[in-house]
Amino acid sequence: MSGPALECGALLIGAEGRIVAVGPEVAVPRPPDVPAEDFGDALLLPGLINTHTHLELTGLEGGPPGPDFAAWISRVRTDKAARGPEAFLAAARRGLAGCWAAGVTTVADTGDSGAVIEALAECGGSGIAYQEVFGPHPDQRDESLAGLRQAVARLARFAGGRVRIGVSPHAPYTVSGPLYSATAAWARDAGLPIAVHLAESPAESALLYGGTGSFAEAWRGRGIPMPTPLGHTPVGWLAAHGVLSDRTLCIHVVQAARADIRLLARANVAVAHCPLSNRAHGHGDAPLAELLAAGLRVSLGTDSILSVGALDLLAEARAARALAGLDPAHALALCTRDAARALGLESEIGTLAPGSWGDCFVIRGGAGPPHASAEERVLASGPGDVLATFVGGRDVYRTSPPV
Ligand SMILES: [Zn+2]
Repeated sequence: MSGPALECGALLIGAEGRIVAVGPEVAVPRPPDVPAEDFGDALLLPGLINTHTHLELTGLEGGPPGPDFAAWISRVRTDKAARGPEAFLAAARRGLAGCWAAGVTTVADTGDSGAVIEALAECGGSGIAYQEVFGPHPDQRDESLAGLRQAVARLARFAGGRVRIGVSPHAPYTVSGPLYSATAAWARDAGLPIAVHLAESPAESALLYGGTGSFAEAWRGRGIPMPTPLGHTPVGWLAAHGVLSDRTLCIHVVQAARADIRLLARANVAVAHCPLSNRAHGHGDAPLAELLAAGLRVSLGTDSILSVGALDLLAEARAARALAGLDPAHALALCTRDAARALGLESEIGTLAPGSWGDCFVIRGGAGPPHASAEERVLASGPGDVLATFVGGRDVYRTSPPV
Protein backbone atom coordinates (compact mmCIF):
# COMPACT_ATOMS: atom_id res chain seq x y z
CA MET A 1 0.00 0.00 0.00
CA SER A 2 3.04 2.29 -0.02
CA GLY A 3 3.75 1.67 -3.72
CA PRO A 4 2.76 -0.47 -6.67
CA ALA A 5 2.14 -4.19 -6.03
CA LEU A 6 5.23 -6.41 -6.34
CA GLU A 7 5.22 -9.68 -8.23
CA CYS A 8 7.13 -12.50 -6.53
CA GLY A 9 7.48 -10.36 -3.43
CA ALA A 10 8.84 -11.40 -0.06
CA LEU A 11 8.69 -10.08 3.48
CA LEU A 12 11.15 -10.65 6.32
CA ILE A 13 9.87 -10.15 9.88
CA GLY A 14 12.37 -9.91 12.72
CA ALA A 15 12.21 -11.76 16.02
CA GLU A 16 10.79 -8.68 17.76
CA GLY A 17 7.80 -8.71 15.37
CA ARG A 18 8.69 -5.81 13.12
CA ILE A 19 9.29 -5.83 9.37
CA VAL A 20 12.99 -5.97 8.52
CA ALA A 21 12.86 -6.10 4.72
CA VAL A 22 10.28 -6.13 1.94
CA GLY A 23 10.75 -6.28 -1.82
CA PRO A 24 11.21 -8.64 -4.75
CA GLU A 25 12.04 -12.11 -3.42
CA VAL A 26 15.59 -12.01 -4.82
CA ALA A 27 16.36 -8.82 -2.89
CA VAL A 28 15.05 -9.90 0.53
CA PRO A 29 17.61 -11.64 2.76
CA ARG A 30 16.89 -15.22 3.91
CA PRO A 31 18.73 -15.69 7.20
CA PRO A 32 19.42 -19.44 7.53
CA ASP A 33 17.96 -19.77 11.04
CA VAL A 34 14.66 -18.07 10.18
CA PRO A 35 11.64 -20.22 9.25
CA ALA A 36 10.37 -19.38 5.75
CA GLU A 37 7.02 -19.93 4.15
CA ASP A 38 5.96 -19.78 0.50
CA PHE A 39 2.30 -18.98 -0.17
CA GLY A 40 2.53 -19.57 -3.92
CA ASP A 41 0.10 -17.66 -6.10
CA ALA A 42 -1.51 -15.63 -3.33
CA LEU A 43 -1.53 -11.97 -2.32
CA LEU A 44 0.22 -10.63 0.78
CA LEU A 45 -1.08 -7.37 2.23
CA PRO A 46 -0.74 -5.26 5.34
CA GLY A 47 -3.31 -6.41 7.91
CA LEU A 48 -6.68 -4.73 7.54
CA ILE A 49 -7.66 -2.09 10.11
CA ASN A 50 -11.30 -1.90 11.23
CA THR A 51 -11.76 1.57 12.70
CA HIS A 52 -15.24 0.99 14.07
CA THR A 53 -16.78 -2.07 15.60
CA HIS A 54 -18.40 -3.36 18.81
CA LEU A 55 -16.91 -6.81 19.40
CA GLU A 56 -18.62 -7.22 22.81
CA LEU A 57 -21.89 -7.61 20.86
CA THR A 58 -20.65 -10.73 19.03
CA GLY A 59 -23.34 -13.40 19.19
CA LEU A 60 -26.26 -10.97 19.67
CA GLU A 61 -27.00 -10.68 15.95
CA GLY A 62 -30.39 -11.53 14.56
CA GLY A 63 -31.88 -10.31 11.31
CA PRO A 64 -31.72 -6.89 9.65
CA PRO A 65 -32.11 -3.90 12.01
CA GLY A 66 -35.41 -2.46 10.65
CA PRO A 67 -36.31 1.17 9.96
CA ASP A 68 -36.94 2.55 13.52
CA PHE A 69 -33.43 3.50 14.73
CA ALA A 70 -34.50 4.71 18.20
CA ALA A 71 -36.38 1.43 18.83
CA TRP A 72 -33.35 -0.55 17.58
CA ILE A 73 -30.99 1.31 19.96
CA SER A 74 -33.30 0.55 22.86
CA ARG A 75 -33.44 -3.17 21.87
CA VAL A 76 -29.61 -3.34 21.84
CA ARG A 77 -29.56 -1.82 25.32
CA THR A 78 -32.02 -4.49 26.58
CA ASP A 79 -29.98 -7.34 25.00
CA LYS A 80 -26.77 -5.99 26.59
CA ALA A 81 -28.39 -5.70 30.03
CA ALA A 82 -29.08 -9.45 29.94
CA ARG A 83 -25.37 -10.30 29.49
CA GLY A 84 -22.89 -10.78 32.33
CA PRO A 85 -19.15 -9.97 32.33
CA GLU A 86 -18.07 -13.54 31.47
CA ALA A 87 -20.42 -13.62 28.47
CA PHE A 88 -19.06 -10.27 27.26
CA LEU A 89 -15.49 -11.53 27.55
CA ALA A 90 -16.31 -14.75 25.67
CA ALA A 91 -18.03 -12.66 22.98
CA ALA A 92 -15.03 -10.32 22.70
CA ARG A 93 -12.64 -13.28 22.29
CA ARG A 94 -14.86 -14.79 19.58
CA GLY A 95 -15.16 -11.41 17.87
CA LEU A 96 -11.40 -10.90 17.86
CA ALA A 97 -10.80 -14.39 16.45
CA GLY A 98 -13.35 -13.55 13.73
CA CYS A 99 -11.42 -10.36 12.88
CA TRP A 100 -8.17 -12.31 12.50
CA ALA A 101 -9.92 -14.90 10.30
CA ALA A 102 -10.98 -12.03 8.02
CA GLY A 103 -7.48 -10.53 7.73
CA VAL A 104 -8.12 -7.73 10.25
CA THR A 105 -5.12 -7.17 12.55
CA THR A 106 -6.05 -3.91 14.33
CA VAL A 107 -9.45 -2.83 15.65
CA ALA A 108 -10.78 0.43 17.00
CA ASP A 109 -13.61 -0.83 19.18
CA THR A 110 -16.23 0.93 21.26
CA GLY A 111 -18.11 -0.65 24.14
CA ASP A 112 -18.84 -0.31 27.82
CA SER A 113 -18.25 -3.81 29.23
CA GLY A 114 -14.44 -3.51 29.21
CA ALA A 115 -14.28 -6.99 27.68
CA VAL A 116 -12.59 -6.04 24.41
CA ILE A 117 -9.51 -4.43 25.95
CA GLU A 118 -9.13 -7.48 28.19
CA ALA A 119 -9.44 -9.85 25.19
CA LEU A 120 -6.93 -7.77 23.20
CA ALA A 121 -4.42 -7.87 26.06
CA GLU A 122 -4.72 -11.61 26.78
CA CYS A 123 -4.67 -12.61 23.07
CA GLY A 124 -1.74 -10.35 22.13
CA GLY A 125 -3.93 -8.27 19.80
CA SER A 126 -3.57 -4.74 18.47
CA GLY A 127 -6.18 -2.06 18.92
CA ILE A 128 -7.79 0.87 20.66
CA ALA A 129 -10.69 0.17 23.03
CA TYR A 130 -12.84 3.25 23.53
CA GLN A 131 -14.74 3.00 26.82
CA GLU A 132 -18.28 4.30 26.35
CA VAL A 133 -20.08 6.75 28.59
CA PHE A 134 -23.81 7.56 28.52
CA GLY A 135 -25.98 10.17 30.22
CA PRO A 136 -28.59 12.17 28.28
CA HIS A 137 -29.87 14.13 31.33
CA PRO A 138 -27.64 17.11 32.22
CA ASP A 139 -28.04 16.15 35.92
CA GLN A 140 -26.23 12.86 35.21
CA ARG A 141 -23.02 14.63 34.20
CA ASP A 142 -20.95 14.19 37.36
CA GLU A 143 -22.07 10.64 38.07
CA SER A 144 -21.48 9.51 34.46
CA LEU A 145 -18.04 11.11 34.27
CA ALA A 146 -17.02 9.62 37.62
CA GLY A 147 -18.15 6.19 36.38
CA LEU A 148 -16.10 6.62 33.19
CA ARG A 149 -12.99 7.67 35.11
CA GLN A 150 -13.31 4.66 37.40
CA ALA A 151 -13.75 2.31 34.43
CA VAL A 152 -10.70 3.73 32.66
CA ALA A 153 -8.63 3.41 35.86
CA ARG A 154 -9.77 -0.21 36.26
CA LEU A 155 -9.07 -1.12 32.61
CA ALA A 156 -5.73 0.71 32.36
CA ARG A 157 -3.98 -2.49 33.48
CA PHE A 158 -4.85 -4.04 30.11
CA ALA A 159 -3.39 -1.10 28.15
CA GLY A 160 0.24 -1.01 27.08
CA GLY A 161 2.26 -2.15 24.12
CA ARG A 162 -0.11 -2.56 21.20
CA VAL A 163 -3.29 -2.15 23.23
CA ARG A 164 -4.56 1.37 23.89
CA ILE A 165 -7.46 2.83 25.77
CA GLY A 166 -9.68 5.74 24.78
CA VAL A 167 -13.09 7.11 25.67
CA SER A 168 -16.35 7.28 23.76
CA PRO A 169 -19.11 9.68 24.83
CA HIS A 170 -21.52 7.52 22.85
CA ALA A 171 -23.68 9.81 20.67
CA PRO A 172 -25.54 13.14 20.78
CA TYR A 173 -28.81 11.27 21.49
CA THR A 174 -27.40 9.46 24.57
CA VAL A 175 -25.04 12.11 26.01
CA SER A 176 -25.96 15.60 27.25
CA GLY A 177 -24.09 18.74 26.19
CA PRO A 178 -22.60 19.21 29.69
CA LEU A 179 -21.38 15.57 29.75
CA TYR A 180 -19.77 16.07 26.32
CA SER A 181 -17.90 19.17 27.53
CA ALA A 182 -16.75 17.51 30.76
CA THR A 183 -15.64 14.27 29.05
CA ALA A 184 -13.78 16.13 26.29
CA ALA A 185 -11.94 18.31 28.83
CA TRP A 186 -10.94 15.32 30.95
CA ALA A 187 -9.83 13.28 27.89
CA ARG A 188 -7.72 16.21 26.72
CA ASP A 189 -5.98 16.48 30.10
CA ALA A 190 -5.50 12.71 30.30
CA GLY A 191 -4.21 12.52 26.70
CA LEU A 192 -6.89 9.96 25.74
CA PRO A 193 -8.27 9.56 22.21
CA ILE A 194 -12.03 10.02 21.72
CA ALA A 195 -14.52 8.21 19.47
CA VAL A 196 -18.08 9.45 18.90
CA HIS A 197 -21.01 8.22 16.84
CA LEU A 198 -21.81 11.42 14.98
CA ALA A 199 -24.39 12.68 12.49
CA GLU A 200 -25.64 9.17 11.89
CA SER A 201 -29.44 9.35 11.60
CA PRO A 202 -31.95 12.03 10.57
CA ALA A 203 -33.54 11.50 14.05
CA GLU A 204 -30.30 12.69 15.71
CA SER A 205 -30.30 15.86 13.56
CA ALA A 206 -33.99 16.50 14.35
CA LEU A 207 -33.34 16.19 18.11
CA LEU A 208 -30.52 18.76 18.08
CA TYR A 209 -32.03 21.14 15.55
CA GLY A 210 -35.65 21.34 16.63
CA GLY A 211 -36.22 19.02 19.59
CA THR A 212 -38.36 16.80 17.33
CA GLY A 213 -38.32 13.22 16.02
CA SER A 214 -38.10 9.80 17.63
CA PHE A 215 -35.13 10.51 19.94
CA ALA A 216 -36.78 13.74 21.17
CA GLU A 217 -40.00 11.81 21.89
CA ALA A 218 -38.08 9.15 23.81
CA TRP A 219 -36.28 11.86 25.83
CA ARG A 220 -39.57 13.61 26.67
CA GLY A 221 -41.03 10.27 27.75
CA ARG A 222 -38.11 9.89 30.21
CA GLY A 223 -38.35 13.48 31.50
CA ILE A 224 -35.06 14.53 29.86
CA PRO A 225 -34.92 18.23 28.85
CA MET A 226 -34.22 19.06 25.20
CA PRO A 227 -30.67 20.14 24.25
CA THR A 228 -30.14 23.88 24.67
CA PRO A 229 -29.78 25.86 22.61
CA LEU A 230 -31.53 24.09 19.75
CA GLY A 231 -30.61 24.96 16.16
CA HIS A 232 -27.32 23.05 15.90
CA THR A 233 -26.33 20.35 13.45
CA PRO A 234 -24.75 17.31 15.15
CA VAL A 235 -21.27 18.39 13.98
CA GLY A 236 -21.87 21.98 15.12
CA TRP A 237 -23.15 20.70 18.49
CA LEU A 238 -19.99 18.70 19.19
CA ALA A 239 -17.75 21.54 17.94
CA ALA A 240 -19.53 23.87 20.39
CA HIS A 241 -18.77 21.44 23.24
CA GLY A 242 -15.05 21.14 22.52
CA VAL A 243 -15.22 17.51 21.38
CA LEU A 244 -13.63 17.84 17.93
CA SER A 245 -9.83 17.69 17.66
CA ASP A 246 -7.10 15.68 15.96
CA ARG A 247 -7.58 13.02 18.69
CA THR A 248 -11.25 12.55 17.77
CA LEU A 249 -12.56 9.71 15.62
CA CYS A 250 -15.99 10.64 14.22
CA ILE A 251 -18.03 7.55 13.36
CA HIS A 252 -20.60 7.54 10.50
CA VAL A 253 -20.83 11.30 9.58
CA VAL A 254 -23.77 10.81 7.22
CA GLN A 255 -25.88 13.92 7.96
CA ALA A 256 -23.15 16.48 7.21
CA ALA A 257 -23.51 19.51 4.95
CA ARG A 258 -20.66 21.54 3.48
CA ALA A 259 -20.35 23.80 6.55
CA ASP A 260 -20.14 20.74 8.81
CA ILE A 261 -17.39 19.21 6.68
CA ARG A 262 -15.44 22.49 6.88
CA LEU A 263 -15.74 22.39 10.69
CA LEU A 264 -14.51 18.79 10.78
CA ALA A 265 -11.57 19.60 8.50
CA ARG A 266 -10.61 22.64 10.57
CA ALA A 267 -10.57 20.48 13.72
CA ASN A 268 -8.55 17.81 11.86
CA VAL A 269 -10.73 14.94 13.10
CA ALA A 270 -10.58 11.44 11.62
CA VAL A 271 -13.70 9.82 10.16
CA ALA A 272 -14.73 6.16 10.38
CA HIS A 273 -16.94 5.63 7.35
CA CYS A 274 -19.36 2.68 7.74
CA PRO A 275 -21.17 2.42 4.39
CA LEU A 276 -22.94 -0.92 4.92
CA SER A 277 -24.20 -0.05 8.41
CA ASN A 278 -25.48 3.33 7.17
CA ARG A 279 -27.38 1.53 4.44
CA ALA A 280 -28.68 -1.27 6.69
CA HIS A 281 -30.28 1.30 9.02
CA GLY A 282 -31.61 3.42 6.13
CA HIS A 283 -29.61 6.49 7.26
CA GLY A 284 -28.56 7.26 3.68
CA ASP A 285 -25.08 7.54 2.20
CA ALA A 286 -22.30 9.60 3.78
CA PRO A 287 -20.81 12.41 1.65
CA LEU A 288 -17.64 10.34 1.20
CA ALA A 289 -16.28 12.17 -1.85
CA GLU A 290 -16.68 15.52 -0.06
CA LEU A 291 -15.05 14.22 3.15
CA LEU A 292 -12.07 13.01 1.13
CA ALA A 293 -11.89 16.22 -0.93
CA ALA A 294 -11.75 18.21 2.33
CA GLY A 295 -8.54 16.37 3.21
CA LEU A 296 -10.02 14.53 6.20
CA ARG A 297 -8.37 11.32 7.42
CA VAL A 298 -11.07 8.88 6.31
CA SER A 299 -11.03 5.16 7.16
CA LEU A 300 -13.48 2.27 7.07
CA GLY A 301 -15.40 0.58 9.86
CA THR A 302 -17.88 -2.25 9.79
CA ASP A 303 -19.90 -1.21 12.86
CA SER A 304 -21.36 -4.12 14.82
CA ILE A 305 -22.56 -7.52 13.78
CA LEU A 306 -26.07 -6.40 14.83
CA SER A 307 -26.09 -3.76 12.09
CA VAL A 308 -24.38 -5.58 9.23
CA GLY A 309 -24.20 -9.31 10.02
CA ALA A 310 -20.79 -10.90 9.34
CA LEU A 311 -18.05 -8.24 9.46
CA ASP A 312 -16.42 -7.86 6.02
CA LEU A 313 -14.07 -4.91 5.60
CA LEU A 314 -13.43 -5.70 1.93
CA ALA A 315 -17.17 -5.43 1.28
CA GLU A 316 -17.05 -2.00 3.00
CA ALA A 317 -14.17 -1.05 0.68
CA ARG A 318 -16.21 -2.09 -2.37
CA ALA A 319 -19.14 -0.01 -1.13
CA ALA A 320 -16.87 3.02 -0.53
CA ARG A 321 -15.35 2.60 -3.98
CA ALA A 322 -18.77 2.61 -5.64
CA LEU A 323 -20.03 5.51 -3.52
CA ALA A 324 -17.16 7.92 -4.23
CA GLY A 325 -15.89 6.54 -7.56
CA LEU A 326 -12.52 5.56 -6.06
CA ASP A 327 -9.81 3.61 -7.84
CA PRO A 328 -9.20 0.16 -6.30
CA ALA A 329 -5.91 1.14 -4.62
CA HIS A 330 -7.58 4.09 -2.88
CA ALA A 331 -10.49 1.92 -1.71
CA LEU A 332 -8.04 -0.60 -0.20
CA ALA A 333 -5.99 2.20 1.39
CA LEU A 334 -9.09 3.23 3.37
CA CYS A 335 -8.81 0.01 5.40
CA THR A 336 -4.99 -0.16 5.56
CA ARG A 337 -2.68 2.86 5.09
CA ASP A 338 -5.29 5.59 5.56
CA ALA A 339 -6.93 3.78 8.48
CA ALA A 340 -3.57 3.79 10.26
CA ARG A 341 -3.39 7.57 9.72
CA ALA A 342 -6.92 7.96 11.09
CA LEU A 343 -5.80 6.26 14.32
CA GLY A 344 -2.47 8.14 14.45
CA LEU A 345 -0.60 4.82 14.00
CA GLU A 346 0.86 5.36 10.51
CA SER A 347 4.44 4.79 11.67
CA GLU A 348 3.42 1.43 13.21
CA ILE A 349 0.92 -0.26 10.89
CA GLY A 350 -0.97 0.10 7.60
CA THR A 351 1.85 -0.54 5.14
CA LEU A 352 4.46 -3.26 4.63
CA ALA A 353 7.43 -1.06 5.38
CA PRO A 354 10.66 -1.77 7.28
CA GLY A 355 10.17 -0.73 10.91
CA SER A 356 6.39 -1.28 10.91
CA TRP A 357 4.81 -4.15 12.83
CA GLY A 358 4.77 -7.45 10.96
CA ASP A 359 0.97 -7.31 10.62
CA CYS A 360 -0.13 -8.91 7.38
CA PHE A 361 -2.50 -11.37 5.81
CA VAL A 362 -2.45 -13.72 2.87
CA ILE A 363 -5.43 -14.00 0.58
CA ARG A 364 -6.14 -16.29 -2.38
CA GLY A 365 -5.35 -14.44 -5.57
CA GLY A 366 -7.93 -16.12 -7.77
CA ALA A 367 -10.90 -13.74 -7.51
CA GLY A 368 -11.72 -10.96 -9.98
CA PRO A 369 -11.85 -10.70 -13.74
CA PRO A 370 -9.00 -12.09 -15.90
CA HIS A 371 -5.93 -9.79 -16.00
CA ALA A 372 -7.30 -7.82 -13.05
CA SER A 373 -4.78 -5.84 -11.00
CA ALA A 374 -3.69 -7.13 -7.59
CA GLU A 375 -5.91 -4.51 -5.93
CA GLU A 376 -8.93 -5.56 -8.03
CA ARG A 377 -8.37 -9.18 -7.09
CA VAL A 378 -8.23 -8.38 -3.39
CA LEU A 379 -11.36 -6.22 -3.61
CA ALA A 380 -13.20 -9.04 -5.37
CA SER A 381 -12.40 -11.35 -2.43
CA GLY A 382 -13.92 -11.85 1.00
CA PRO A 383 -13.13 -13.25 4.46
CA GLY A 384 -13.52 -16.82 3.15
CA ASP A 385 -10.50 -16.31 0.87
CA VAL A 386 -8.07 -15.44 3.69
CA LEU A 387 -5.38 -18.12 4.05
CA ALA A 388 -3.34 -16.79 6.98
CA THR A 389 -3.09 -13.75 9.25
CA PHE A 390 -0.09 -12.52 11.25
CA VAL A 391 0.09 -9.98 14.08
CA GLY A 392 3.62 -8.81 14.82
CA GLY A 393 4.91 -11.81 12.85
CA ARG A 394 2.96 -14.29 15.01
CA ASP A 395 0.46 -16.36 13.08
CA VAL A 396 -2.95 -15.83 14.61
CA TYR A 397 -5.06 -17.48 11.92
CA ARG A 398 -4.69 -20.27 9.36
CA THR A 399 -7.36 -21.58 7.07
CA SER A 400 -7.94 -25.27 7.75
CA PRO A 401 -5.96 -27.41 5.32
CA PRO A 402 -8.06 -29.05 2.60
CA VAL A 403 -9.14 -32.63 3.45
ZN1 LIG B 1 -21.26 1.89 16.32
